[in-house]
Amino acid sequence: MDISLKAPAKINLTLDVLHKRDDGYHELEMVMTTIDLADRIDLTERAGGIGLESTSGFVPFDDRNLAYRAAALIKKRFDIKKGVHIKIHKKIPVAAGLAGGSSDAAATLRGLNRLWELGLSVEELAGLGLELGSDVPFCVRGGTAIARGRGEQLTPLPPPPPCWVVLAKPSHGVSTAEVFNAFRADRVQSRPRLDRMEEALEKKDFSGVCEELSNVLESVTLEQYPRVRHLKEKMKSFGVPGVLMSGSGPTVFGLVERDNVARRVVNGLRGFCRQVYAVRMLGGLEGTSLD
Ligand code: ATP
Repeated sequence: MDISLKAPAKINLTLDVLHKRDDGYHELEMVMTTIDLADRIDLTERAGGIGLESTSGFVPFDDRNLAYRAAALIKKRFDIKKGVHIKIHKKIPVAAGLAGGSSDAAATLRGLNRLWELGLSVEELAGLGLELGSDVPFCVRGGTAIARGRGEQLTPLPPPPPCWVVLAKPSHGVSTAEVFNAFRADRVQSRPRLDRMEEALEKKDFSGVCEELSNVLESVTLEQYPRVRHLKEKMKSFGVPGVLMSGSGPTVFGLVERDNVARRVVNGLRGFCRQVYAVRMLGGLEGTSLD
């Protein structure tokens, strides 16, 4: 049997770093939401081990690949004798702050649960996901949620009002670990107001969502990479009402309500940035299974 799944990217509507924990991880509080920019994962049963193929040369082709690691984890944990070939059709930019690798891992977990008829619950899949990375539990569930702890304590929220997400990814990637290591709380100029973001989402208040976009990691990435600051300013200059860097960056996103505005912003940005996309806000995992 073959299974094909969509592995959608996420953006952060808010990201706050509360403190550094004794175990070395940062205690986070963030609002994440799924967008309609997705990799596709094809899983094909085969004898023996795990095979891996990707349409992008930018991802690792060995056991450092998060989709590979997801399959290896399930195979070992449940003593599965069968093998699987994983093909990743990469559309999400790599090392972009969009959780591409985490989403590939989450889709692989969801897909193998079906392929190998393991009957695991979403909670169990999310638990396995946390062993692979902090963003994987969110990617297993998708939707819109507050993520606390390392990112694994999830509280569902209503999806953002329907809108377009314009994404601009500078040519360089950013190492999430390096950004967190360079983070200094005393350099942060403004912090997310979670209660206000929740209220805006509940009221489906597009302007409120735009107003409450906030990410404390901009204090690191915008300093280290002036290009990211420049892209933010450029997007704002096109009249985009809400502009923010996603995750640890460097992707900058803007929210707009109308498709003709999204198209205009994309065209305007093309002269400054090669990787520019306009995708719909998804807010949920519905319709992401392709089989
Ligand atoms: P996050 O937002 O979760 O921090 P990101 O979007 O910044 O993630 P990814 O695209 O997930 O970053 O890539 C981060 C690192 O993970 C890269 O250095 C890449 O080599 C590695 N990686 C492992 N597996 C994958 C995969 N399937 N797709 C993309 N990157 C992967």
